Amino acid sequence: MSKKAVIVLSGGLDSTTCMGMAKEKGYELYPITFHYGQKHNREVEQAKKVAEYYDAPDHRIVNISFLNQIGGSALTDQSIDVPTDIDEDEIPATYVPARNMIFLSLASAYAEVIGAEAIYIGVSAVDYSGYPDCRPEFIESMNETVNLATKAGATGSRMVIETPLIGLTKAETVEEGLRLEVPYELTTSCYNGEEEACGECDSCRLRLKGFEEAGSKDPIPYKV
Ligand code: ZN
Repeated sequence: MSKKAVIVLSGGLDSTTCMGMAKEKGYELYPITFHYGQKHNREVEQAKKVAEYYDAPDHRIVNISFLNQIGGSALTDQSIDVPTDIDEDEIPATYVPARNMIFLSLASAYAEVIGAEAIYIGVSAVDYSGYPDCRPEFIESMNETVNLATKAGATGSRMVIETPLIGLTKAETVEEGLRLEVPYELTTSCYNGEEEACGECDSCRLRLKGFEEAGSKDPIPYKV
């Protein structure tokens, strides 16, 4: 029986690269995508296409859109705009309160149900927006927690949270993805979620810089 990995798949560049990396490691891929009350549905639509591309047998799309009842983020709260001016010293308004903790909790539940030994999440502590739930300390602590919280962990089937991008720059991630023939044309990164990416939000800027430094051209369309 082949080994299984749950992939936290947002339809973005990083999580899609994780699909390619987990596949290369010989895992059967079980992507899980969260509708967490984003203002737009684009991530979920692109994630479906990525899951199809990889022939993932069971793509779960979990609706936790009630997170917008908590709000507190430019991505989920209609009253907060997505910023284009980024102050490097501050955690930007696009931070979603405790998002990765919530995602990893649910991903670990899914991993337990299907007997997966790994959970992939595409966080990076290098080229990122300063989100606290992308730090290695958090991932380590969460890895301990999911094993303490689950029957799988308690009965000796420990699961591992894999973060293969944690030490990579965006350019290194793109290089790795290109080597693995990751379908970047199916991914979306723009916070605004339109047909053409804005090219100006923090996420677009990081992505464009990554492709540029990797000496490659981003295959998705941009407004500017
Ligand atoms: Zn954008």
